[in-house]
Amino acid sequence: MNLRVGHGYDVHRLVEGRPLILGGVTIDHPLGLDGHSDADVLVHAVMDALLGGLALGDIGRYFPPDDPRWGGANSLVLLQQVAALVRERGWRVVNVDTVLVAERPRLQPHVPAMAANMATRLGISPDHVGVKATTNEKLGPEGREEGISCSAVVLLVHAPEDSHAP
Ligand code: MG
Repeated sequence: MNLRVGHGYDVHRLVEGRPLILGGVTIDHPLGLDGHSDADVLVHAVMDALLGGLALGDIGRYFPPDDPRWGGANSLVLLQQVAALVRERGWRVVNVDTVLVAERPRLQPHVPAMAANMATRLGISPDHVGVKATTNEKLGPEGREEGISCSAVVLLVHAPEDSHAP
């Protein structure tokens, strides 16, 4: 079977004085996600899903948080690098699906832009990138607005003939 599934999860703390960036979209909100890079929890979950599908470890292995090169990094650029790594190994992304868990702000209006940003970096159509946003019904850390989490799954197909495609 030339198919692989990958699963990723990430969470970042909400703090003052940081921009809120999800799927490469800067969202107007008094709190933003804390982290070494831009802390884009959605893109991080997708990257871990891609790497996990090929048993290549996690993003900490490729972009260590103590490496100054990734300070404030645009996670979409890192996603593009992970997508290239997947392609170099002869695999192609079929589709991505994600669930963002955030009590506030309302993310729905930003979903199409998030999907489009990631689709561009992955070299697939935006209608193959699912982004869903849910609250946590005020339960747990996401519900208390202490952080935002995200899980992602990807399907990969072995397609070595496409390995040099953009
Ligand atoms: Mg992260």
